[in-house]
Amino acid sequence: MTLDWSPLTTEMSRWRAEGRTIPIWWRDDDAVAVTPELEQLQNLSVITGVPVHLAVIPAGAKSDLATFTAERPNLLPLVHGWSHTNNAPRSEKKAEFSVSLDPEDMARDCKTGLTTMRSLFGDAMWPVFVPPWNRAPDTLISRLADLGFSAISTFKPRNAMHAAPGLQRINTHLDPINWRQDKVLVAGDRLIAQIADQFAARREGRADAEEPYGLLTHHLVHDETIWSFTRDLLSRLCDGPIRLWTARELTPAEGKV
Ligand SMILES: [Zn+2]
Repeated sequence: MTLDWSPLTTEMSRWRAEGRTIPIWWRDDDAVAVTPELEQLQNLSVITGVPVHLAVIPAGAKSDLATFTAERPNLLPLVHGWSHTNNAPRSEKKAEFSVSLDPEDMARDCKTGLTTMRSLFGDAMWPVFVPPWNRAPDTLISRLADLGFSAISTFKPRNAMHAAPGLQRINTHLDPINWRQDKVLVAGDRLIAQIADQFAARREGRADAEEPYGLLTHHLVHDETIWSFTRDLLSRLCDGPIRLWTARELTPAEGKV
């Protein structure tokens, strides 16, 4: 696959000329166990030097995953809802947590998810809530800090640094998978244009330049083309004026509780 990366390199050179850096982070969703795909993800993280935040589904998480991540500090487990069940009515988009559901039931499931992750992963996990399908209603978001979460992560540029008092928002911004078309790679040129546009929006003050820019992947469904694009993108980003962000940077009040 030969792609024209010049829109991205041109934009990154503008950042460099202004002496500015872009905070970058990586989130990968739906881990429950050690699989060949997870090992491929781990290898890519090591090769590129970019830590990967694993949004782990607590209800399905296996102890071998906890052992695997404990030995690899470049893997940072986060809390991916509770069971990744679609509880939304048919008239709504898929969601484990939806405005149609009882806030008490949702809060209980989130708490169970966090407790389960703590008991499995101990200090190696980070209390960042990643709602399945990137959807969570305000009735739940307003309670997450009290439940023990320090941040929430969904998709698209954030409107504000905090989603609720005591709860930072650290979203993801680029998903290379075309979910409606057999989970193939979105056209590479389109992805490159999207990143360049998103970086330009930050540079020009039209988007929050402080929000860590997040790459969102799903290791279990990647084909070779998606792996290859992800590797190329990460290495090109690392050539640019960036700094790598991890959940370890969450301030103490918004970090471990
Ligand atoms: Zn998911």
